Amino acid sequence: MSKNNTEKLDRRKLLSSMLIGGLTLPVISSSDESQALDDSNKNSLLWAVAWQETAAEYGALCHQAFNLARLRVDQALSNKAPQSKPLAVITDMDNTLIGASSYWGYLINNGMDFFDDAIWDQWLPENNITAIPGSKDFLNYCHANNVEVFYVTNRNQGEETYQYALDQLHYLEFPYADTDHLTVYRDSSNKTPIKEAIDSTHDLVVMLGDNLNDYKRDYYVDGIDLRYQLMERDKKEFGDKFILLPNPTDGHWVRAIFGDSEPLPTESNRNILKAAATRRAWTRR
Ligand SMILES: [Mg+2]
Repeated sequence: MSKNNTEKLDRRKLLSSMLIGGLTLPVISSSDESQALDDSNKNSLLWAVAWQETAAEYGALCHQAFNLARLRVDQALSNKAPQSKPLAVITDMDNTLIGASSYWGYLINNGMDFFDDAIWDQWLPENNITAIPGSKDFLNYCHANNVEVFYVTNRNQGEETYQYALDQLHYLEFPYADTDHLTVYRDSSNKTPIKEAIDSTHDLVVMLGDNLNDYKRDYYVDGIDLRYQLMERDKKEFGDKFILLPNPTDGHWVRAIFGDSEPLPTESNRNILKAAATRRAWTRR
């Protein structure tokens, strides 16, 4: 995850400056904030991170995704005409191939319950990462069958962004870890241009991501219901043209709730999160 340079602010400093400046938004009191930060056992991230960190079901979903991706590769290989363009797979990196549970665990241990961009930028170069279950075998299978893998990510850690991303591919010993196969967007989460470029030179087999926006820019919209409608529109394409990995902690589904992919850790945003979780809650008579 990354943001434009102009958006890359230390959120806690921003919050402090807004409070000192007497602005009324976001609605928060310092006592409420410290109470929330101290009370880490009630951290709203706990269920999501515990599931991602421990559930065999999480690992099985990842394997299911890569098994299906391999099936699509096998189908493309068997249908490939002798003179056709080379086959290609396009994949996102974060939470698709690269696990970040150590980052989320750090946030929880430090009383934080929302994504923190400044800490993400410090955490990322340390390569405290893991390969998502099934990812490496799938990528190596592509390589063994001359199916080119193109990595496309949206990150911004300053001038070193590209090198950090390339280093992570090397660290995890993924194939095609070179500048011909890695695209990093620092200032936009719109991956459409590189997808179109690859599609013009290769036969695109399948795309992988943990975010529907990795598939189509259409999903970069405000509103939970509209995003859901778009998903239903494309329902026959999932598992075929696009294969989705599970991610319960971050992504544009967060933006659909808050209007921001990286919402501030305020009481008003905690209330918005609760309202999202309970929007169809049973009202007991
Ligand atoms: Mg991702």
